[in-house]
Amino acid sequence: MSRGDQLASATPASEKWPRGKVPFWVGEAFAQDPRWTPQAPLSGQQQADVAIVGGGFTGLWAALALRQRRPQARIVVLEAQFCAAGASGMNGGFSHGYWDALPRLLQDFGEADALAIAEAGSEAQRQIERFCSEHAPQARFSAGGRVKLASSARQLERFDEYFRIARVYGLGDRIRAADPREIAGYCRLPSVVGGIHFAETATVQPAQLVLALRREALRRGVRIHEASPVRGVQEARDGYVVQTTAGSVLAGDVVLASNASLATHPLLRRKLTNFSSYVLATRPIPDKLRQMGWNSDIGFSTAKMFLNWFRKTPDQRIVFGTGGGPIGFNGASSGALLQHPGTYRKLLGDFLQMFPQCTASDIACDWAGAVELSTDRLPFFGTLPGTRIHYGCGYSGHGVNATWIGGRILAELVTGDAAEWSRLPFHTRAVADWPREPFRYLGGRLFRSGLMAYEDALEAGRAPSLYASLVQRLSSIGPVRLGAR
Ligand SMILES: Cc1cc2nc3c(=O)[nH]c(=O)nc-3n(C[C@H](O)[C@H](O)[C@H](O)COP(=O)(O)OP(=O)(O)OC[C@H]3O[C@@H](n4cnc5c(N)ncnc54)[C@H](O)[C@@H]3O)c2cc1C
Repeated sequence: MSRGDQLASATPASEKWPRGKVPFWVGEAFAQDPRWTPQAPLSGQQQADVAIVGGGFTGLWAALALRQRRPQARIVVLEAQFCAAGASGMNGGFSHGYWDALPRLLQDFGEADALAIAEAGSEAQRQIERFCSEHAPQARFSAGGRVKLASSARQLERFDEYFRIARVYGLGDRIRAADPREIAGYCRLPSVVGGIHFAETATVQPAQLVLALRREALRRGVRIHEASPVRGVQEARDGYVVQTTAGSVLAGDVVLASNASLATHPLLRRKLTNFSSYVLATRPIPDKLRQMGWNSDIGFSTAKMFLNWFRKTPDQRIVFGTGGGPIGFNGASSGALLQHPGTYRKLLGDFLQMFPQCTASDIACDWAGAVELSTDRLPFFGTLPGTRIHYGCGYSGHGVNATWIGGRILAELVTGDAAEWSRLPFHTRAVADWPREPFRYLGGRLFRSGLMAYEDALEAGRAPSLYASLVQRLSSIGPVRLGAR
């Protein structure tokens, strides 16, 4: 076991995750921050102007955006476990906006809104970079770009739409074709027939970014209580009583930033369904990376709906993930969807296929996290009708960049200031409902298996079965956008 791995298993995180399942980033971040101590749980009855539920990227960016607009406001963040315990501390660390979603954004929203979303993502990217350079050098924001890889002619054909759009909108510096030769110059990968180079992608150490946001929020006078799970929010005469296990806060406004757990909220559960993302990290393998010729900070993703993505770390590990985990029944965000041996086996198989130089013994740790999916795979923000309770969720596995935008929108919803960010469709559009349970779960399982079979067949150069083709066709019809990646 390397020193980093030993330290990882000794962090506070090991109380939450079974041994060997501590997200690499969390283990590394806590090991590198010896001054970290938990913020005391909420106790007794307290008062605040704004209570934020959830201490991940959304909650912390919202706290900082609010602090900027209302320097005197009393802001409290209530975090069930510790900041970085959620998706924000365990994700792939790919930070990018929405240029790679432009084809479907244009189709769904038209030109003006689609471009506004993409520009908002670029602004978020600049601001995250700035925050990292000023306050979070440990988050190692590195704008190395990303290549989306095609491994079959059919996948390559689907890229044409990107290049057409890039030509029409003059986006050649952001979206361009990368041929197999260029890609091999970044890293020699098997079965690559071409790709798209997206310039606007950075990698970060996500848990370090959360810890930096937490430090900054504390420094700017935001109160944070960890180990403070919110049990309920009740309306009171002069605001809302936010109840935790050991205390309560009376607050004028409440922000729900608790991500996948919102899939069980009575007023939001029809808008969200949870699935899971599985990740593995190798031990440092500098010699193998050298053999592959992977010597820049470029990241990669595949062109599948249940994609793989991979990147390397400064200490020469590969972090490799998949969005292909199972679906949670009735909004579940833990339990079976995070412990699915079949998904882990597939992840490992995909990893070994992509990196034949590696073996299973190179893997240092693996973990899984819940991802909340909206029907159009875009985040949404709003205020529960007739209340001062605001929410933001639905990032659909793409939240490192979008949570910055989310923080701005939530701050505008609280303060009622001139709408800048809340003019985006992230706030203004109507989000379609998922079907009711058990149809959502059963349908989700059918779509998952059908789409996976379809994509596996294409990748292997086989014709997809009739069932798989039918599911693929159905998946992009109607308000639910599943098969459009
Ligand atoms: C494995 C994985 C890989 C991913 N990879 C990427 C990627 O590479 N790029 C990308 O852009 N996005 C990625 N994502 C998505 C991204 O991580 C999320 O969209 C983003 O972190 C959401 O931030 P958040 O603050 O809303 O949620 P979270 O980080 O989950 O924060 C919510 C917080 O709320 C707390 N909480 C929950 N319930 C309560 C309660 N009752 N009371 C108090 N607190 C509560 C939780 O403990 C948690 O800390 C990935 C997600 C996963 C799981």
